[in-house]
Amino acid sequence: MIIAIDGPAASGKGTLARRLAEHFGLHHLDTGLTYRAAAAAMLKAGTALDDEDAASAVAAGVDLSKLDRAALSLHEVGEAASRIAVMPRVRKVLVEAQRRFGEQEPGAVLDGRDIGTVVCPDADVKLYVTASPEVRARRRTDELAGRGLDADYAEILTDLQRRDERDTTRTDSPLRPAVDAHLLDTSEMDIETAFRKAVDIIDGI
Ligand code: C5P
Repeated sequence: MIIAIDGPAASGKGTLARRLAEHFGLHHLDTGLTYRAAAAAMLKAGTALDDEDAASAVAAGVDLSKLDRAALSLHEVGEAASRIAVMPRVRKVLVEAQRRFGEQEPGAVLDGRDIGTVVCPDADVKLYVTASPEVRARRRTDELAGRGLDADYAEILTDLQRRDERDTTRTDSPLRPAVDAHLLDTSEMDIETAFRKAVDIIDGI
């Protein structure tokens, strides 16, 4: 059983994926963390982010069992992740690791940008989770402020739009809904409502 969840940053897909994995007793992988882990290692080593040889070597060393969400959640890491995520060789290495993760019994929920289109095109269910950029920026601002971190709404909105632009226009595996994905716009939905709707979709297949 594979559930593929895609969507832009701060759309609510991560929380939804975690809740669904718990509900259906499946493994869960936030594939964004794999790109973030590679990017964080590049930043730490001071390697230029446009060095594809270095980035693919670092990506090959990413251990999916040691992804530390808290350490990788920094905004700069997300920004760097989206820069190395345009590189085909980085994607190839990480996609292979993500597919292996999905082969575990009894199945998995994977969330990211290209799960339904590239990583698991044969997934049992595909969801594409969106929300307006303003709603996503508001959520991200509140989340950061709630953790006592600096959060400027206008700056976050600009960054999200830049990341959306990079993710949707890159040539390798751009962010887009799979043709057979169920669309879930969470702009006017809380997480509980989105979760219920997703469970209904999955139970209905
Ligand atoms: O989801 P998250 O914000 O953690 O992802 C960070 C970046 O990693 C994204 O902006 C995107 O460029 C990249 N990514 C990707 N494909 C995925 C998951 C994330 O290209 N499946």
